[in-house]
Amino acid sequence: MTPDEFRVAGHDLIEWIADYLERVEDLPVLSQVEPGEVRAQLPPAPPEQGEAFEAILADLDRVIVPGLTHWQSPNFFAYFPANASPPSILGELLSAGLGVQGMLWASSPACTELETLMLDWMVDALGLPDRFRSGGAGGGVIQDSASSATLCAVLAARDRARRGGAGLADLRAYASEHAHSSLAKAIRIAGLQDDQLRLVATDGEHALRPDELDRAIEADREAGLVPFLVLATVGTTSSTAIDPVSAVAACIGPDVWLHVDSAFAGVAAVCEELRSVNDGLDQADSYVVNVHKWLLTNFDASLLYVADAQPLIAALGILPEYLRNAATDSGEVIDYRDWQVPLGRRFRALKLWFVLRSYGLEGLRAHIRRHVGLAHELAGWITEHPDFEVVGPVPLSLVCFRHTGGDEANQAIMDRVNRSGAVYLTHTRLDDQVVLRLAIGARTTERRHVEAAWTAITDAAPRG
Ligand code: PLP
Repeated sequence: MTPDEFRVAGHDLIEWIADYLERVEDLPVLSQVEPGEVRAQLPPAPPEQGEAFEAILADLDRVIVPGLTHWQSPNFFAYFPANASPPSILGELLSAGLGVQGMLWASSPACTELETLMLDWMVDALGLPDRFRSGGAGGGVIQDSASSATLCAVLAARDRARRGGAGLADLRAYASEHAHSSLAKAIRIAGLQDDQLRLVATDGEHALRPDELDRAIEADREAGLVPFLVLATVGTTSSTAIDPVSAVAACIGPDVWLHVDSAFAGVAAVCEELRSVNDGLDQADSYVVNVHKWLLTNFDASLLYVADAQPLIAALGILPEYLRNAATDSGEVIDYRDWQVPLGRRFRALKLWFVLRSYGLEGLRAHIRRHVGLAHELAGWITEHPDFEVVGPVPLSLVCFRHTGGDEANQAIMDRVNRSGAVYLTHTRLDDQVVLRLAIGARTTERRHVEAAWTAITDAAPRG
């Protein structure tokens, strides 16, 4: 592709994306294809000769779009949102266009320095504790996902405990039974057995019970085991339950690493009135919040903050000869390769920079507030309906609810509305009952979309 051909193809692709974003509302949200249908429409082997870009674009409409579930649809209410926004898409494109690797400060200084600045900007934007700012012992890094960030926290905590003399088999980690599965995976990757993670019981609102945590830690200490990590979740995946981080911190000593996972909920703190999601963070050793879920920054961009970077760098830092350079040796720069598992790293800060500058904090607050307001409105409609009930609190923009007709009725409602293509929602299980989850968070979701979703749900419900 020559530079001129690239210009033409690039304009065509941007046109295509802009057009997609305009028409996505009218597409069936959940892909209706059968397994194998997408692959069957494509040649089994790569072409021998290069093809024209128009031919590739044509296949997007013909083959790929029908096989998509449209996460950017305003009618997407499943899982948690994964916002993309035009400024963020452009930032992502620019990152690809520059094609730099930010593994070391020296390998592209702007990549590191913009990233550090964006993480400091986000400390201000979210009202996070100063201990997470760069310039002191702590700081932040942009990772690909909350799962990777939690893995890094587990590795840092594990190595800190090991340096303190603990045997690997004696280590114990703790989290609520509703903690995200990425913790269980991190425990395995860290070389621990599944049963070295204790799942602590939750209260009536599905939040971790500090008294149960205290009991579990004490019992393990008495048995000669070594509690090394507690993960508190602010906004669980099932129901956005909020673990009491301050009370959790009070149960553990400074020898136990406190990691707070607020992958979805944390960005709500751009709004002053929602800053309770930050309660207790001043006592956390590490904190993860995704801007790639609800903050208009497309996947992947997960912010990991640490109060002290040394244990993380001690766990992950390795300097082979071929990466040695004067800047690293000077000790004056951050080399983010020591803050993550892979060596190579993308220029992710660009898209966050574009988002923060394009929307401003006011724009981001309006985006979050709209969804939280709509969720409360929806919860009101559910409460008023004789056959439905809201399950648990609605602290943010996820509403958990159920039809009173039992698990099968709820499953049938969900299957019907999802098959219709008009709406997409998912479910969870709380207190051993199927619960429907409606997560409001797409960039273009308005009141009319939530109203239409609620109508689709009530229309799909069994008649009394
Ligand atoms: N933690 C929580 C609380 C989540 O809700 C999720 C995903 O929904 C994750 C972690 C994993 O996020 P990621 O996909 O960025 O690894």
